[in-house]
Amino acid sequence: MAKILIIGAGGVAGVAAYKCAEAAQKTGVFDSVALASRTLVRCEAVAANVRKRLGYDIPVFQVDADDAPALCELLRRVRPDIVLNLALPYQDLHIMDACLACGVNYVDTANYEPRDTAKFEYKWQWAYRERFQEAGLMALLGSGFDPGVTNVFAAWGLRHKLDAIHVLDIIDCNAGSHGQAFATNFNPEINIREVTARGRYFEHGEWVETDPLSWAMEVDFPDGIGKKRCYLMFHEELESLSINLPGLRRARFWMTFSESYLNYLRVFESVGLTGIKPVSFRGAEIVPLQFLAALLPDPASLGRHSSGKTCIGDVLTGLKDGAKACCYIYNICDHARCFEETGSQAISYTTGVPAMIGAKLMAEGVWRKPGVWNLEQLDPDPFMENLNQYGLPWQCVDRDPAQ
Ligand code: NDP
Repeated sequence: MAKILIIGAGGVAGVAAYKCAEAAQKTGVFDSVALASRTLVRCEAVAANVRKRLGYDIPVFQVDADDAPALCELLRRVRPDIVLNLALPYQDLHIMDACLACGVNYVDTANYEPRDTAKFEYKWQWAYRERFQEAGLMALLGSGFDPGVTNVFAAWGLRHKLDAIHVLDIIDCNAGSHGQAFATNFNPEINIREVTARGRYFEHGEWVETDPLSWAMEVDFPDGIGKKRCYLMFHEELESLSINLPGLRRARFWMTFSESYLNYLRVFESVGLTGIKPVSFRGAEIVPLQFLAALLPDPASLGRHSSGKTCIGDVLTGLKDGAKACCYIYNICDHARCFEETGSQAISYTTGVPAMIGAKLMAEGVWRKPGVWNLEQLDPDPFMENLNQYGLPWQCVDRDPAQ
């Protein structure tokens, strides 16, 4: 049994809190689930939702995770075994420092990026490896869907389907609609920084850069979703998978965007609203993207009007018994069904469920190794079983490797 403290009270944390409470009730794995974030009323709203749906009580606390002494004081008061960081990537290092100072294990869903440069890399968090090892603590990085489940799909495919993976294509399709003119399905500032960045993919040991969203392909998705245009982007799991999957020759990440989303984005970019350098506005300094993000819909509020499905998965091509082979491992998630269960849309759901699963496996001692780990470095089988049990069932289909 373990005590878990979730930090952050946005869309993803709302689902993770619900799923931690569900796991606590079903298996007793967590003997308490607590929640802390910058804005107390948001914590209270998450706790009220969990109480209403599951009759489970979550104590809530206010904390600014960038304030190291305040965060350590909270950790000493709550005494969690695991901190599940669902705040923003900017907080990762502060929360890892506090975990080390207070002897707490750590899980997150997105890698650190500095506020003033839209560049995310694992190097800052991998640099904590020895300190976590020496402290006998574990840090699990990127336990969302992508990164997260997509890393586990690759590890599972390598164990059960292929003897070697040569080509990996991760394809993220949101074929849903949220009924808004323009909205992002997770934190708008982080989402727009990611989408407007230069594309990058891994080929023959090198990173190849592309202009933002300049490469596209059409993919025919299963379960009635049909054909959608997918755009090449850099995504953080490519960095760890290119190191941890032996024999990988090419790894790329693709995401679907509607024409409408792209048009809005082009307009915002063209007038400077996606900029991250401060500008002077009537005597005050503001960051244009933060101003835009403040105007956009809160991702946690999108569930009620969201419909349609997401389909996120890995196409793995390589060798089986000396012959070319290919398989597609994916999950389909329905926005309306997620809303009915948890009050959230499918992007928060597909991130919050694996965040809980990563923490659950650590709490159970199934995944428990001192150090800093990405998900593909751990046994994929128990994670895959938990996906089926906690609302993200997956499929694996063989494909013609020649196509
Ligand atoms: P939201 O913006 O909805 O929520 C973020 C929460 O973090 C808010 O409650 C916010 O507080 C809180 N927060 C921000 N700064 C601090 C701070 N200094 N101290 C304490 N709390 C803070 O984001 P999402 O829920 O959409 O996303 C959460 C995380 O999940 C992000 O890091 C995102 O990148 C990641 N993610 C990962 C995915 C994956 O598949 N791996 C997919 C989608 C998201 P306040 O309420 O005061 O603003």
